[in-house]
Parts: sequence; structure tokens; C-alpha cells
Amino acid sequence: MKFAILNGEIIERSQAKVDVEDRGYQFGDGVYEVIRVYNGKMFTAKEHLYRFVRSADSIGITLPYKDEQLLELLETLIVKNNLQTGIIYMQITRGVAPRNHAFPTGKVIPALVAYTKEINRPVEGLKTGVTTILTEDIRWLRCDIKSLNLLGNLLAKQKASEKGCFEAIQLRGNDVTEGSSSNIFIVKNGVVITHESNHFILKGITKDVILQVCSDNGLPVEERTFCLAELEQADEVFLSSTTAEVMPIVEIEGNKVNGGAVGSITRKLQELFEQEIETQCGSLADKILF
Ligand SMILES: *Cc1c(COP(=O)(O)O)cnc(C)c1O
Repeated sequence: MKFAILNGEIIERSQAKVDVEDRGYQFGDGVYEVIRVYNGKMFTAKEHLYRFVRSADSIGITLPYKDEQLLELLETLIVKNNLQTGIIYMQITRGVAPRNHAFPTGKVIPALVAYTKEINRPVEGLKTGVTTILTEDIRWLRCDIKSLNLLGNLLAKQKASEKGCFEAIQLRGNDVTEGSSSNIFIVKNGVVITHESNHFILKGITKDVILQVCSDNGLPVEERTFCLAELEQADEVFLSSTTAEVMPIVEIEGNKVNGGAVGSITRKLQELFEQEIETQCGSLADKILF
């Protein structure tokens, strides 16, 4: 039997149901997080909780739980679901209220839902790289909020999916912003370049871990806007996300990157990222093996 968290309680997953007037269901009025679990332990849990609280706060939702309380609930959920390798999905909405665009005026309690899912590391992709397409970034101007409103992201991913590609790289005008559910990095002349964390992108936790390991290992980094031409002329390209980790991109719109091979700096970052996972969560059984 699997379990889920519903409003602070752990219940049978099949019993975790929300009201038709939940504002998340009707408006996407809420925020979410995906947290990686390796060896039954959460990776970068504090960072995800911090972002969850910040995302919620930025749309005027105050979490009715303390950080430690939530962390404890999530840890219990992992144990009860016997999760080894996978994710926790967690979301909070403004709650249940009669449908009205304006926020409810009475005391409405935000609705929290969390559940787990077994997902292996995408080892094949990590070894050989993935293909991508380009698409216009049609999303709103608060992409820094991990909002439940994902239509722009879904349309981008669907376009990639229809072309048999792993991800869609989004362009706002001539500038590369991010993937539909990942951050994009390029490497040029040994410098790792990625979009600065502003309202045009979601500040990935994986992105931050990568920037940290770069700085710890003396790899030069530039956090700045870069354009399509720089993407096309890059020596290496990769994406990052909680589930995809450091994922090499070997093709963009049918054009090979680095002759279709995974680049050496990308490999180095994968190795350093695995070390970071092992430091936090213990030895990995499914290492990429270089
Ligand atoms: C979640 C997400 C990312 C990646 O963030 P991680 O914290 O690394 O998982 C990147 N872009 C978008 C749009 C996202 O929703």
C-alpha cells in the first residue's frame, strides 16, 4: 500500500482526493516542488523547502507548517512508501473556496499534497546525451515562481516529444532562457555559461549545485544571458534538473553539438555531481561509469 500526505496527515494514497473547488485544480493557483531521493534519502532537501516557501510566499500563500514539521512528514512518507530511488512530488494551493479570480477573503487553509514515485536515474541519457528542439518562450514574466500553471511549459515539451526529443530549449527573442523543465548550460572555451537567475527562468536547485561545484573546482562560470548564436557555436551544451541531473545535449534541431559526443567538461561535472549525491545520500549503485 502506498501513502500520501494530505493537509499535514499521512493517509492511504488512494484516499488522497481534493475538492473540485480547490483553486489549484481550477486556476493552477499554487506552487510545487520535486525532490530527488537516492538511497531513501532526500537530496538538497533544505534548498527545495526554502524554494517552496519562497514560491508560495511570492503568490501570497503562507505555509501552515513549519519547515521541520514538513521535513519530518516527508521523511516519514519515504519510509512508509519504502522509497529508495525516486522523487517526492509536493504542491500547495491557496485552498478550497467558491470560484472567483480574486483571492478568497475568509480564512481559507492552503491545501498541501505530497506523494512519492519510483524513478531510476536516467543513466542511458546521462551516458550518451539527449536531443532537443528550439521553441519560442511564450511563458509569463514570473518564471522564477515554481507555479502549477505550466501550460507554456507543457506546449514546449509536447513539441519536443512529438519530434522524439527529450527537451525543448526556449528562446525569448534571441536569448536562450531555459528548457521546459530544466536549465540550460553552454560551455565555450572552457567557460560554463548559464542564464542568470531572474524572472525569466526558474532558479534550479541542480543549477545551483553545478555552479557551486564549478566554483569549488576552479571551473570558470558566467551567469548571464546568452543568445541563439552562442548556443549554436557552443563547444558543449547540457541541461540540468532534479530528475535529469547533468544531462548532456548532443543535438539541437537536428544539428550535432560537439560532433554528437558528450564533452569533457560536461563529463567532469557529471562526475562531480555524482560525488555530491554520494556525499549527501551515500554510495550510488548505478554510477554513470566513464
Ligand atoms: C523545476 C524546473 C527547473 C529545474 O529546477 P531543479 O530545481 O533543478 O529541478 C528548471 N526550469 C523549470 C521551468 C522548472 O520548473
